[in-house]
Amino acid sequence: MRSAYDLELEDLSELLPEEPAYRARQVFDGLHGGLRRVDEMTEIPAALRGRLAEILPAGLTVVSERSADDGGTVKWALELDDGALIETVLMHYERRSTVCVSTQAGCAMACSFCATGQAGFTRHLTTGEIVEQVVIAARAAAPRRVSNIVFMGMGEPLANWKNLAPALHRLNGPLGLGARRLTVSTVGHVPGIRNLTAEPLAVNLAVSLHSADDRRRDALIPLNRTYPLGVLAEVLADYVETTHRRLSFEWALIDGVNDTDRDLDELAAYARPLAAHVNLIPLNPTPGYLVRGSTPRRVAEFAAGLAQRQVTATVRMTRGQEIDAACGQLAGRTKVELRTKEETDVGP
Ligand code: SAH
Repeated sequence: MRSAYDLELEDLSELLPEEPAYRARQVFDGLHGGLRRVDEMTEIPAALRGRLAEILPAGLTVVSERSADDGGTVKWALELDDGALIETVLMHYERRSTVCVSTQAGCAMACSFCATGQAGFTRHLTTGEIVEQVVIAARAAAPRRVSNIVFMGMGEPLANWKNLAPALHRLNGPLGLGARRLTVSTVGHVPGIRNLTAEPLAVNLAVSLHSADDRRRDALIPLNRTYPLGVLAEVLADYVETTHRRLSFEWALIDGVNDTDRDLDELAAYARPLAAHVNLIPLNPTPGYLVRGSTPRRVAEFAAGLAQRQVTATVRMTRGQEIDAACGQLAGRTKVELRTKEETDVGP
């Protein structure tokens, strides 16, 4: 138990054996429906609030909050109870407010172009630590309501299925977010995709493809060596057939690496049989990967090229780049270390 949000209703009842039965429900509803901290639950007697503050896990601590895009993007660095750092991002759009949530401190996938991958893996987040990020963002978003959750922060969500699955249910039930507004993003973790296929909650699946050629995908995404494109396609075909849900591919356009006409042909051939939708985003800069994102012109050409090949695509706007809040830029603690090193290297 690392967060108050790790406790189910029954756990709260067990913690409060001498209290009337409705107390546990009051606390659970205050935390979830009310998005409140225990010290704000004035319907609970002060003595009990004090006791709860002592016995409930402290959970996440806000270490820093930065905003960009005129307040439309907010990034938090959050400290876990053991000192590990994660990051969470809130993005307001005209008709929706989306929270980008981390599922691990660090990431073991080691994708070359991703700052989290460059930093290595610390540990899985608990269910409560995943849910509490949404609560922190939802409190800050008020009076606007958080409408969508994307599991595109730090970590590989499907490598932490054991804690992710209950978090999806908690967000869908007590926090009231529709399953279709929850999107799990994966690098292509095949056992995890099988779990998602069997999961009754109809959440969306996004697969970070970035290349449809095994040799080049191996270089970008090391997990491709374990689950190559052919194996991935099979499990995705089964996912689409079983769930009847739309699949999407993420493709970060990297100048000269995966934005050529050959890439267009390969991607179209891979996406078409799966009826997958493609989200294009120019690569965001990270300290450990010295290749640039494609030019806006090439991004537009690539999108048009997919349309010609009967594949639907959307060009995504990048958000929060200047506060390192954009895709692939979340690095938590290690960022500070990298910065310090950079400064030392170029210093007087
Ligand atoms: N591990 C999961 C979720 C986290 S990453 C996954 O890989 O899907 C969320 C998205 O950001 C992924 O599509 C990832 O490939 C992408 N991404 C990583 N680094 C990036 C960068 N430097 N620029 C743009 N997108 C990046």
